[in-house]
Amino acid sequence: MAVTIDPAARNLIMGGVRFTKDELVHYVRKVNPSFNEAIASAFVTIGARYGVRGDVAFCQSIHETNWFRFGGDVKPEQNNFAGLGATGGVPGLTFKTIEEGVTAQIQHLYAYASTAALPAGETIVDPRFTLVKRGSALNWEDLAGKWAVPGYDKSKYASLDDALQAGDTYGQKIIKLFLGLIEMVTALGPLVVLDAGHGGSDPGAQGYGIVEKNKALSIALKVRDQLLARFKVRVNMTRDTDVFIPLLERASLANDWKADYFVSLHHNAAGGKGFESYVYKGTRTGESGKKQDILHAAIMDYLSTVGVNDRGRKEANFAVVRETKMPSILIENLFVDNASDATLLNNAAVIDKLAAAIATGIGQAMSLTSVAVVDPPKPPVTPPTTTPPAAAEYPQGTPQWKIDAVEWLYEQGLLTDVSWKKKIDEPLPLWAEAAILQRLYNLRNS
Ligand SMILES: [Zn+2]
Repeated sequence: MAVTIDPAARNLIMGGVRFTKDELVHYVRKVNPSFNEAIASAFVTIGARYGVRGDVAFCQSIHETNWFRFGGDVKPEQNNFAGLGATGGVPGLTFKTIEEGVTAQIQHLYAYASTAALPAGETIVDPRFTLVKRGSALNWEDLAGKWAVPGYDKSKYASLDDALQAGDTYGQKIIKLFLGLIEMVTALGPLVVLDAGHGGSDPGAQGYGIVEKNKALSIALKVRDQLLARFKVRVNMTRDTDVFIPLLERASLANDWKADYFVSLHHNAAGGKGFESYVYKGTRTGESGKKQDILHAAIMDYLSTVGVNDRGRKEANFAVVRETKMPSILIENLFVDNASDATLLNNAAVIDKLAAAIATGIGQAMSLTSVAVVDPPKPPVTPPTTTPPAAAEYPQGTPQWKIDAVEWLYEQGLLTDVSWKKKIDEPLPLWAEAAILQRLYNLRNS
């Protein structure tokens, strides 16, 4: 890992979670292929509940557990991922579940970095919570000498400050792991966040059997698949199921993820037809507007072929485009309550092509690198199966209609001895005729 630490850098313990569960899993599995992804999931969700950097806490656990391979005083089954209560030979605390263990760790960090009460609905599971001087370590770098004592290698450094200058304290090691995570993930490509409008208790607009929240999600999922298949890009969804997420949370998710582009997908209603797109007011002339021009054009390139009218590239004070810190856009994919628009939205082939056009436009707007499309391996070419040329088995010059008729007897199993083929023009003995008739009788009654 080619990451260097600025000795003066201080990184806050409190804050949004930047990385997704999948990204954390990917990071650890490069070192520990049998890593249990439920642990990563707990850090993301519980970190977010407390406003603690769950992804950095995850790196703290990578440090404490040696990439979740353990091997120190603490055993994996203790669900203690940060050596809580463990000191030289003492195994430390045991928690009933992964979630409880991660909650205790996040609470312990919360105790150090915040003076606020526990978030609503939370109860203390960290038995050492009250031992912490609240607010005494706001940064990861402050944990040396507090969470970890002394928090540096005494055999290598004369003082904590010496270790700090060398970038080799407890907190700096955690940040170093985190920088490695950033490096790995950003190498995967820029990040686009797809935001399917509405969801859960908020259905959005409805008409002609279309429910906006469902249609927007199904298109967003197709756009995601298209993007991942065609470009070097990362795609995060604000939602990939039917759940309600407040508008401001959608924007703050994208901000925490440090997204490069934010695309919100909606459908229109109430008095109109056609396609339109929005950026935040005043940003038509900026980067958002530049990307809007490209994405809007790519979508209209397709939609105009199915007769959709262009309502234009617009500006509005929508929360998701206002609160996102990166270039953003909100697209209104036709009117659910207009008969001709709704017919298109109810056509699966149109939806597939619209999703492909949106992906194309995002690819162009973000200048994404195309991934070479590799054709799936073709099966070996085999000639179409026909009845084997049987003519060779019959006397030369036998007409095909005779061959076909006799071949049918063999195919049905009515005649089995192939030597009859040589005697095609000779009469069958009575016993052979009887055997054929008997087989035919059995065939019809089986
Ligand atoms: Zn909407």
